Amino acid sequence: DRTQTAMATEIDRVLRAKRTFRPAPERERYDTLIVGAGFAGAVLAERLASDSGQRVLVVDRRPHIGGNAYDEHDAAGVLIHRYGPHIFHTNSPDVFDYLSRFTEWRPYEHRVLASVDDKLVPMPINRTTLNELYGLSLENDAEAAAFLASRAESVEDIRTSEDVVVAAVGRDLYETFFRGYTRKQWGLDPSELDRAVTARVPTRTSTDDRYFTDTFQAMPANGYTRMFEAMLDHPGITLDLGVEYRDVIDRIDVDHIVFTGPIDEYFDFRFGKLPYRSLQFRHETHDVAQFQPVAVVNYPDETVPQTRITEYKHLTGQLHAKTSISYEFPSAEGDPYYPIPRPENQALFKRYEALADAEEGVTFVGRLATYRYYNMDQVVGQALATYRRMAAKMTTESPT
Ligand code: FAD
Repeated sequence: DRTQTAMATEIDRVLRAKRTFRPAPERERYDTLIVGAGFAGAVLAERLASDSGQRVLVVDRRPHIGGNAYDEHDAAGVLIHRYGPHIFHTNSPDVFDYLSRFTEWRPYEHRVLASVDDKLVPMPINRTTLNELYGLSLENDAEAAAFLASRAESVEDIRTSEDVVVAAVGRDLYETFFRGYTRKQWGLDPSELDRAVTARVPTRTSTDDRYFTDTFQAMPANGYTRMFEAMLDHPGITLDLGVEYRDVIDRIDVDHIVFTGPIDEYFDFRFGKLPYRSLQFRHETHDVAQFQPVAVVNYPDETVPQTRITEYKHLTGQLHAKTSISYEFPSAEGDPYYPIPRPENQALFKRYEALADAEEGVTFVGRLATYRYYNMDQVVGQALATYRRMAAKMTTESPT
């Protein structure tokens, strides 16, 4: 009897232990953790998964992919860019071919007008701008060049952005187009900005009014977000959105990290914050088919708070009875958008870069990790080059 009771007790203990036993949660294993699902992160995820057969985890603190290039349909059903207008342009066939694997394109040449004294004139300044602004009838490049030369002022020692522009086009055009715009955009007067910021004043003597002159100018036919979905649609890629990378890092095992967030944040702002200029957007929908004649109208006048208004249907080609626009207001507070171009900021970045170079197992890539204003195509080019270096390293390190 005793033996039977003992056996029953033992069986009961084992069964109970079995019921309550939970295996310690196994840490998920990935080859690479990618922080950021913008262009830099998405290109590296796609390459590592489909070209190197890696298991990749992509995290982003935002609840969506695409980074700053994210687009979405608003409440009215109009496709808008949440973080301001993104126009794709590049001279690189490699970058264009690569992205063409994930999207069809809609040909689009960007045009910008500036609102000056109730007139809308082409930006950058071209012959039409000069004729409309000054009531002239300059007929060819030579006449326009002569006019600009007659306005240009000789500046002894060109040190600041103001000097560059005044020396190229004179004080009147400087004040009409550059002074107020720069003061709004950067919160700094052009006389406080290094000459390198405006190294080249884009003026034209022709009537070419295209904003960009690159070989490839087009918009992803179904938007950026669809293109990112196609890039990240791979069995080797896992997405975790709306999470901070620090909250993920403790529950996974990874061999390598690709970090596309702010470099100063990665190092806990050890040397202080890298200064950024931010933007606030005000999105509106209007009950008209068209709000303005082109996608972007600039407001160089300092007494007007916005720097520009964008109407998205020009970019996307969408047909819709209503139209959605966004106002842009530069601000000191908010998401990091534009690195503030001052030599002391570059020097601070260099100190972080030295830490990054010494950080084992982490690759820093993208605009925030390299503290540089990069266009989308430049980030794609940078990410593809980074992948090639990583792949070469993997080949030499892998056992034969
Ligand atoms: P991002 O797109 O910023 O992606 C980085 C991602 O990392 C973000 O989504 C962020 O949430 C995430 N992240 C950061 N830290 C963490 C963390 N700790 N944990 C988790 N996630 C994190 N380029 C053009 O070519 N044409 C244009 O017309 C153009 N217009 C622009 C207009 C504006 C207003 C701005 C600001 C930029 C514009 N650009 C344009 C530049 C373009 O936005 C960038 O080139 C591109 O977004 C860079 O991609 P990225 O992957 O480096 O960075």
